[in-house]
Amino acid sequence: MTADSATLHKKIKTFFGYDTFKGDQEQIINHLLSGGDSFVLMPTGGGKSLCYQLPALLMEGTAIVISPLIALMKNQVDAIRGFQEGESGIAHFLNSSLNRQQAAEVREDLLRGITKLLYVAPESLTKEENIALLKEIKISFYAVDEAHCISEWGHDFRPEYRRIRSIIEEIQPAPVMALTATATPKVQSDILKNLRIQDARVFKSSFNRPNLYYEVRDKNEPEKDIIRHIRQNPGKSGIIYCLSRKKVEELAQLLCINGIRALPYHAGLDAKTRAENQDKFLSEEIDVIVATIAFGMGIDKPDVRFVIHYDIPKSIEGYYQETGRAGRDGKEGTCITFYSYKDIRKLEKFMQGKPVSEQEIGKQLLAETAAYAESSQCRRKLLLNYFGEDYPADNCCNCDNCLHPKPRFNGKEALCLVIELVDTLREHFKLEHLANILTGATNSTIKTYKHDTLELYGAGKDHDLRYWMAVIHQGLILHLLEKDIDNYGLISATDKGLEFLLEPYDIMLVEDRTFSEGSDDDDDEPVASPAGGGGADDVLLKMLKDLRRDVAKKKNLQPWMVFSDPALEDMTILYPLSIKELSEKCQGVGEGKARKFGQPFVELIGRYVEENGIERPDDFIVKSVAAKSGNKVYIIQSIDRKLPLDAVASAKDLDMDGLLTEIEAIVATGTRINLDYYIEEKLDPDVVEEIYNWFREEAESDSLEEARKALSDDYEDIEIRLVRLKFLSEVVN
Ligand code: ADP
Ligand code: ZN
Repeated sequence: MTADSATLHKKIKTFFGYDTFKGDQEQIINHLLSGGDSFVLMPTGGGKSLCYQLPALLMEGTAIVISPLIALMKNQVDAIRGFQEGESGIAHFLNSSLNRQQAAEVREDLLRGITKLLYVAPESLTKEENIALLKEIKISFYAVDEAHCISEWGHDFRPEYRRIRSIIEEIQPAPVMALTATATPKVQSDILKNLRIQDARVFKSSFNRPNLYYEVRDKNEPEKDIIRHIRQNPGKSGIIYCLSRKKVEELAQLLCINGIRALPYHAGLDAKTRAENQDKFLSEEIDVIVATIAFGMGIDKPDVRFVIHYDIPKSIEGYYQETGRAGRDGKEGTCITFYSYKDIRKLEKFMQGKPVSEQEIGKQLLAETAAYAESSQCRRKLLLNYFGEDYPADNCCNCDNCLHPKPRFNGKEALCLVIELVDTLREHFKLEHLANILTGATNSTIKTYKHDTLELYGAGKDHDLRYWMAVIHQGLILHLLEKDIDNYGLISATDKGLEFLLEPYDIMLVEDRTFSEGSDDDDDEPVASPAGGGGADDVLLKMLKDLRRDVAKKKNLQPWMVFSDPALEDMTILYPLSIKELSEKCQGVGEGKARKFGQPFVELIGRYVEENGIERPDDFIVKSVAAKSGNKVYIIQSIDRKLPLDAVASAKDLDMDGLLTEIEAIVATGTRINLDYYIEEKLDPDVVEEIYNWFREEAESDSLEEARKALSDDYEDIEIRLVRLKFLSEVVN
């Protein structure tokens, strides 16, 4: 079947409401209509689904779309039905979520021949009864979505995907279209081989996303960096990826405590909470979602302004897919990744329990990611090269390495040495081994191959291993060297490389960046502020204390209720000049308190800074979470919803004492909470009033110990603690 351009344009308009095709869509559709196999590589958001949806509606028979994502299937089916009002049988899906009656309905529509598109999960496709059913109907073509799942070298390998070709043979032959948003040359070759469509026409769009800014940062104080970034970009939507659920919880909590609207998302949360948190992110009730990579598949939020990787991803493909969720509307998208050597070692350790072949692949992918992170080259060039695409310009002006270039050196001789070495070796070897030969290292591989007897052994010992690895890596990018596709990772010289060796020319290279080791504390707890530590400005401190006394007197409060001593000390170190800065920079100062008392303080600090010509540090304090449990956010939300404290405690496996300790930690950061609903129900109003007044009139600080000493003869501990929380929230915070 063929269709002329005018007809296709008419169809895309009537079926989907679009005026034109995007990218290669029209050619891709025409190729399919004429009966050819095809391989479609398009970045996320490129418009892949239309490439099979439109021909499915035009061709005779039913198109089978194989896709691993059940949630996505339902969305797509609903969308198609939406366009084809009244004909719900036109699209169906077949997966494990259907009950018997629904499955029977699908079957009937298929046999009646009204279904044009059938989405199938790979595990359903392997079922005998489904194969038998599909044998009875006419298939127009097969579309294999997320085709990288076929390859062990992709970032989402699914063994069932490898059986697709044999099942197709069993059902009946028809054209095949494979589609993916990420594919390195290695994955690409795996897909074509495994689906046995080596002659397929390949449609590859550019993977460049010019609006995305890429940066890799040293993982020194990631929490602080993240909070700063979010504060400098108020109101913008962002995703933060962490590798572990625990880190997701901790970071979400830390952001909340620091006044950022954030929620966690990971597979350990129950389905309802997960859906709620996702909806809140999509509807912009919150700004930031902190997530494991379980989040994001099939999410189409066009205005995600930043994607932050708290931990280095396990592969460049994963990294590219995740960063790809930023700036889908074509506007600004900032992608920041934190990196330390320790994280790489940690990931390598995690792999140890896996089967050897999987470990090998995992290590190789991780090594590519590390090389990317440590490189001082244009990140866009590196990424596109990884996907087999050349980026022609030298400077993209939109990545950290292009905006802050490192000095370059002439790499002519170094590259000659590498190419000569590769050329003299009879077999091909991996990058690190080549670098080891040049530096003259001794290890078992070198001994086994007797590479310490080579003439070039140790020929590059004036430089270290990192230097040579960087040189070889750049040789690959320049196509002087190449990696073998079948024996992935083995390096050989290209024709261009051999020509270079005969007639070398100047090539400027750059050394890799160095990073910190990373913290040894697995929890990466944020550093709390140096309250009371060095650096406090004693003159200003005295002035602030005088002011505090005056303010307290006027308001009829104790001085500590206005601002605590640690808060005043923070003011003398960080010199906040606005109410906002006051609450961001000082311990125990929430927004409410800053507004209530802050104005004369920031005015005083402003005058002082100006008169003394003080340079303010560009710094702020991360309000740390006192206890380590991941319950803070849950507790704050439960109290907002007025849940009984006993229920909150038991939901989190705490006793009342433990719960109160957590609430006390929350209130100590300056957060206000309203426990009246609980206090009114449980406590005698006279008791509340007496304890409340003691705090107002007699307490000399907010110390719980002091209060216990003074009150425990007359009141129960829980009464003292609850009223103290009420007092701190109402008067102090
Ligand atoms: P992919 O699967 O490649 O990530 P989608 O198929 O989800 O991309 O399409 C991405 C977006 O582009 C969707 O919002 C879709 O509606 C839109 N789109 C696809 N084709 C066209 C077109 N021809 N004209 C306008 N918008 C299109
Ligand atoms: Zn660049």
